[in-house]
Amino acid sequence: MVLKVEKLTKAFGGLTAVNNVNLQVEEGSIQAIIGPNGAGKSTFFNLISGFHLPSSGKIIFKGKDITKLPPNKIAKLRIARTFQTTNLFENATVLDNVVIGNRLRTKSGVFDAIFRTKREIREEKESMEKAFEALRFVELTHLADQSIGSITQEQKKRVAIALALATDPELVLLDEPAAGINPDETDGLAALIKKMAKSGLTVCLIEHKMSMIMSLADRIMVLNQGERIAEGTPEEIRNNPVVIEAYLGS
Ligand code: ADP
Ligand code: MG
Repeated sequence: MVLKVEKLTKAFGGLTAVNNVNLQVEEGSIQAIIGPNGAGKSTFFNLISGFHLPSSGKIIFKGKDITKLPPNKIAKLRIARTFQTTNLFENATVLDNVVIGNRLRTKSGVFDAIFRTKREIREEKESMEKAFEALRFVELTHLADQSIGSITQEQKKRVAIALALATDPELVLLDEPAAGINPDETDGLAALIKKMAKSGLTVCLIEHKMSMIMSLADRIMVLNQGERIAEGTPEEIRNNPVVIEAYLGS
């Protein structure tokens, strides 16, 4: 198992957003996380990626306890994520977004990300190549010099994925990659996510589009009010009465 989450809990004051959740994710698989709004899905990602400190529980990545590590340390261990709302620099180019984003993720602060040592300037070329390679993977090299403001929502979602890929991850957390895009564009994104797993990446995927989840996921975890109410194959989840009552039936 590449990722092991044990009894993970996060309380915000009186609200337990993630409650005693266990999850094991196999290397190279696509693990979906579904559940109604407010179920704790994004919080779960915030815990794994170090943006929130858990109230209790453990997160083990490749045998290493990462529970209390800050986001930049976790990024360096090769866990990357995308955000539910993509906050890209609208005036910068597609390529610059991927390069800058990479630095912001792996450096410990904005200062560190902007002011670079000579060694880091020499690393620039390499980081540029990584960014380009990521753009190639998401099939956007033809837009490398376009400004973010001029590309479509679906292309922005691909840029967000490229940002994650440019950090050279082993585990990628995608928070609603198909949200806000046209239904006829979701197939292309689904194919991209499939390609990520085929290339050896492990993918955790939060998504509302059920047909996409059912065709993509190897396994699905269902969260409801912070609690894991089910986990299994798409077939098992589809036929689980508890899930149907709490979520799919509503
Ligand atoms: P989901 O992604 O499944 O829609 P979230 O993880 O975003 O759900 O939120 C789960 C619950 O935790 C919600 O009730 C939300 O309001 C609350 N929550 C999330 N982040 C915070 C925070 N930083 N501070 C306080 N409450 C939060
Ligand atoms: Mg969310």
